[in-house]
Amino acid sequence: MEAGEDCSVKVAVHIRPLVGDEKLQGCKDCVTVVPGKPQVQIGTHSFTFDHVYGSTGSPSSAMFEECIVSLVDGLFQGYNATVLAYGQTGSGKTYTMGTGFRDGLQTGIIPQVMNVLFSKIETLKHQTEFQLHVSFIEILKEEVRDLLDPSFLSKPEGANGHAAKVAIPGKPPIQIRESSNGVITLAGSTEISVSTLKQMATCLEQGSLNRATGSTNMNNQSSRSHAIFTITLEQMHKLNPACSGNGLNESMNEDYLCAKLHLVDLAGSERAKRTGSDGLRFKEGVHINKGLLALGNVISALGDEKKRKEGLHVPYRDSKLTRLLQDSLGGNSRTVMIACISPADINAEETLNTLKYANRAR
Ligand code: ADP
Ligand code: MG
Repeated sequence: MEAGEDCSVKVAVHIRPLVGDEKLQGCKDCVTVVPGKPQVQIGTHSFTFDHVYGSTGSPSSAMFEECIVSLVDGLFQGYNATVLAYGQTGSGKTYTMGTGFRDGLQTGIIPQVMNVLFSKIETLKHQTEFQLHVSFIEILKEEVRDLLDPSFLSKPEGANGHAAKVAIPGKPPIQIRESSNGVITLAGSTEISVSTLKQMATCLEQGSLNRATGSTNMNNQSSRSHAIFTITLEQMHKLNPACSGNGLNESMNEDYLCAKLHLVDLAGSERAKRTGSDGLRFKEGVHINKGLLALGNVISALGDEKKRKEGLHVPYRDSKLTRLLQDSLGGNSRTVMIACISPADINAEETLNTLKYANRAR
């Protein structure tokens, strides 16, 4: 393995507390954390991860310091990164990522990333020129929707009175493209150039709002779609004044770096479940989330060092999600998966599925 290359994926578990509904129903806590260890037990099953937060594990405030800060630091060194929140609907993905950003609420990973990013830029801006771009998209049924598209219109939908966001007709669909050097871009999606924390927060808030109002009461789209907030950091080191007068080649001083951080609030993992008694066919009417299935396969391929050495094919092309994240998963990029779980006994089956999925990633 080359220096700096580390394909393994860090996996953390975030256990949320019992919420109001679960308490009202008299749910019992069925998840145990082994004291002092990143180990989770449910029934007779036991799993070890890189970190366990919440419940009686480490406090969730430690998550950002232990799992995310190094990814933000890596951006400044030119390393792409991805943070994925996985789990069943209601397990705390949006809470953990901070994708449901409202009124400057500072909890959640994305708002904390923004804080650290801008304070780091502040300390470096005398020597480096920075440019930041933000995009915010959603993948729903293998289609990419632009959550920052200024041409989205609100229109009332049918008798239920729920607003629906519809794209202006005639706008070409967003396409995922790969350049000759392997860089993935989204053709046709809005990229907003931001220079302040407030501007970036507005993008998060606006996109979250578009995601929420895009759902109808019949099927909650936010549980079926992957929301991806992407921060791109471009940097150009300013010429060192001590060198500029002595005939040094300017281009030698022009140290340009570009890296991106994807912050992903995945679709509810109950969608990845296989149904049907023969184990081969999927039950009609159940939408199988292609992205979650492909992501599991990609991450497990990346984590399997033996297979990797044998030049195993990593199936990025199997879904829009993995295709979009291709240049930010594996290789030199850094990935953190946060498996979000409910401690309630009524969710035990889904919790076990989530832990098994996350376990494959290690
Ligand atoms: P998901 O996005 O996975 O569907 P949410 O993030 O919307 O789940 O969380 C479901 C509910 O649980 C929300 O009411 C949220 O406020 C609450 N919740 C989630 N995680 C936590 C946590 N760590 N601490 C307190 N409440 C939480
Ligand atoms: Mg959510």
